[in-house]
Amino acid sequence: MTTRDVTPIAGESPAPRACYDGIVAYSPEAQQCRIDLSDNTNLWGAPPMAMRTLRSRTPGNVARYPEAYSSNLRERLGRYAGVDPKMIIVGCGSDDIIDSAMRAFAEPGETLCLADPTFTMVPVFATINGLRIAAVPFDSNFEISADAVLATGAKVIYLCSPNNPTGTTLPRAIVEKIVAGAKGLVIIDEAYIEFGGESTVPLVARGNVLVTRTLSKAFGLAGLRVGYGIGAPDLITAIEKARGPYKVNAVAEAAAAAAVTEDLGWLSERVVETRTNRARFIRELVGFGFAPVPSAANFVLVPVPSCGDTTEKLRTAGIAVRAFASLPGIGDAIRITIGPWEMMQPCLDALKGSQ
Ligand SMILES: *Cc1c(COP(=O)(O)O)cnc(C)c1O
Repeated sequence: MTTRDVTPIAGESPAPRACYDGIVAYSPEAQQCRIDLSDNTNLWGAPPMAMRTLRSRTPGNVARYPEAYSSNLRERLGRYAGVDPKMIIVGCGSDDIIDSAMRAFAEPGETLCLADPTFTMVPVFATINGLRIAAVPFDSNFEISADAVLATGAKVIYLCSPNNPTGTTLPRAIVEKIVAGAKGLVIIDEAYIEFGGESTVPLVARGNVLVTRTLSKAFGLAGLRVGYGIGAPDLITAIEKARGPYKVNAVAEAAAAAAVTEDLGWLSERVVETRTNRARFIRELVGFGFAPVPSAANFVLVPVPSCGDTTEKLRTAGIAVRAFASLPGIGDAIRITIGPWEMMQPCLDALKGSQ
């Protein structure tokens, strides 16, 4: 079989929505390196009981549709998070839930407010959904002004704690002030909550808070694409309408259900190891003269004079990290995922002298 280029005749191809113009397809460029510290996934791998489920007899009957709203997985996630299953929504990664929540609670043309810098996918989803973006910069303590956030009048406020890419947490008092004064939905992204920081799940009782979490990071299941949200039942129902049914496939649902019930011992061991290695990695970097940002997550943000130069130097040593150019209040920086020490030592060796 041969493939042919399909070149449309001029004027034949339909125009996509105008708001897609500025969107560039996501391109993580790290794959070729021997050691990949670029994407904050679990570098110890996937958890054993989830893997056993994947290898067992067909984990789900794949000739039939999965459960439309994943009731088994929601029940188990409810137990893990300490809430009623009616307060849980699952999706194809937490990205799916963040995207659906924006659609559920803001009309095109309304505003989404975020702290700057934060998770790079959020402005992309806001743009896809036709929302305007109001970015409120962090101050020098990596805190934001609740008044500045509320002054945007945003229909959706996105907060991330621990925050990607800084690794810092937002003080509870600031989050509570934002939640108390918000005109619409407050999304609090806890993708890294297993590694540190205080969960804001109790705030969902306020009715305007959606906490999002994922199985892609601490749980080691990024390839299965499972995330979840926690909120008041009415809020969850609205987001479910925006999301649609059948977003978590049967195989992913079965493995995720095993992970959140049977792999919790594995999870806490990996978290302890991550924290130990994070402290040691930061200590060594400080010894070299770097000033890494204090982190509550499984990564560390390290300001550097030129992120292009440092990334290139690491790439030559076979190590991939994520580069961030000209972050507000920080300047150029690299974000390094924390994994087994055998991966961290070569990174330290390669960084020595880059400061
Ligand atoms: C990695 C990450 C996610 C997870 O996305 P999934 O779609 O669940 O894989 C969500 N939020 C933040 C801040 C992240 O860094």
